[in-house]
Amino acid sequence: MGLISQQLPLPRDAADGAYPCLVLNADYQPLSYFPLSLWSWQDAIKAVFLERVNVVEHYDKAVHSASMEMTLPSVVALKDFVPQSRAPAFTRFNLFLRDGFACVYCGSDQELTFDHVVPRRLGGKTTWENIVAACSSCNWKKGGRSLRDAHMSLHRKPSQPTIYELQAQGRRFPPGYLHDSWLDFLYWDVELEQ
Ligand SMILES: [Zn+2]
Repeated sequence: MGLISQQLPLPRDAADGAYPCLVLNADYQPLSYFPLSLWSWQDAIKAVFLERVNVVEHYDKAVHSASMEMTLPSVVALKDFVPQSRAPAFTRFNLFLRDGFACVYCGSDQELTFDHVVPRRLGGKTTWENIVAACSSCNWKKGGRSLRDAHMSLHRKPSQPTIYELQAQGRRFPPGYLHDSWLDFLYWDVELEQ
């Protein structure tokens, strides 16, 4: 936290995590959908003071200091465009997102877990091309066998998605859907072991 937010008294109900600010890229698309790009109100105000962002929307809530008052931004847009990285991170969340939060074998969205298509004992790697979302019952049924031995098939061949594909998928899941996962940020953002 910088100087500015230290000088501003905390609104009574603006505890840590309250009044999160959605961060848009300079093209007004969220900087990231998953996890949704959010700043604390302190960081948002700091960026406004540093003139790094334009305020798009604000909360009906202000912070005061002796000399000024400032409403808390709810949406800001970066002034400088941040190019998106070419390859999305290989994370649990992105993998579920690619597979639409559904089992690739039966389509169920219940008790999702991960399956190595080619089992590890047969040399299967932990990669975009070999990990799929699977419900625990399909995972159990497959039981470390190859697709052929398990008499199971994939709806489509898993591959590394582009950022654009993930963002298109992301639009199917409105931000509210993900609210709980903000808290689970660390879990979801842990890179899967390659
Ligand atoms: Zn299944």
